Amino acid sequence: MWEAKLTQAADFLRERDDFLVVSHVQPDGDAISSTVAIGWMLHRLGKTFAMMNEGPVPSRLRFLWKSGDIMGCGDGEPERKFRHVIAVDCADFARVGPAQRWFEDGYDLLNIDHHPTNDAYGSVNLLRFDAAATAEILYELAVHMGFSLDADIASALYTGLLTDTGGFRYSNTSPFVMEAASRLLEAGAPGPMLAEELLERMSMGQMRMIQRGLSRLAFSDDQRIGWIWVTSEDLEETGASNEDLEGLVNYPRNIEGVEVGVLFKENGAKSVKVSMRSAGRVNVAEAAKHFGGGGHVRAAGCRLTVPLAEAMEQVIAYLRKELEAP
Ligand code: 5GP
Ligand code: MN
Repeated sequence: MWEAKLTQAADFLRERDDFLVVSHVQPDGDAISSTVAIGWMLHRLGKTFAMMNEGPVPSRLRFLWKSGDIMGCGDGEPERKFRHVIAVDCADFARVGPAQRWFEDGYDLLNIDHHPTNDAYGSVNLLRFDAAATAEILYELAVHMGFSLDADIASALYTGLLTDTGGFRYSNTSPFVMEAASRLLEAGAPGPMLAEELLERMSMGQMRMIQRGLSRLAFSDDQRIGWIWVTSEDLEETGASNEDLEGLVNYPRNIEGVEVGVLFKENGAKSVKVSMRSAGRVNVAEAAKHFGGGGHVRAAGCRLTVPLAEAMEQVIAYLRKELEAP
């Protein structure tokens, strides 16, 4: 069944040409790695393709093979449209964001993802929900297609695995992840350099946001919910960018006794991005889904179009109820 799915996805790449590769808005390590990994495979097949994302490539990922070729999708009319689309790491079609304006009417879409909330919006769907990262599925696809992996694709796939498993620490770090990582190191992925650049190194903006965020750490009465909020002014005053907020939500979540850690990020007057992390008792994918988002059981997110204070009230009230449930 899974082998047949891999063959279907391989056929999608082999039998078509002139592709657009997209991933989710506000791209993370797995999103960019998966985009360039597909690009690498298409390049090896001698296909033409473009890679696109709504947001800029986070600076710490700019060393990845051809990541500099990932185009922005712009605000205006697209220059042209694509019939053959590959979407990676996008839990639902909305996550593709404004890049979907570049899709031709009647487009064919190959949907490759590992989020359990994925609703199979592609004409071909390569979905495996126990995969730690989309990069893990792409590793399987590359092996299935018989590519001999070089350091470029190995670095990309290793990056996706490393970032989505929090440095091979989260519960999604399966024996297969470690096996894949091992093969990728053999193929030339510079493991220690990637760990240093992607996990250890901090930008000044990131450190300033940690400083500010921790000064705001708040808890529910029973201290089972911990949260941090960040305002638009914080970002302006510290010069921090979106990628500098990565990891901030882990501070409340890592505290002994805390079941759910939440980060609220204000995006202008009436838009709030919410990140949730669970210690295991609460399924935060369900909580995020309740507010129109999605993700994984222990890591999920959503966006609310209300002022910051209201978003905090709504989400915390919901999580309180979840924790009260027997
Ligand atoms: P983060 O909190 O780091 O942005 O995201 C955690 C997880 O939740 C990721 O797997 C991400 O794909 C998912 N996620 C975050 N925000 C959204 C959202 O607005 N919609 C959906 N469907 N998933 C989200
Ligand atoms: Mn992912």
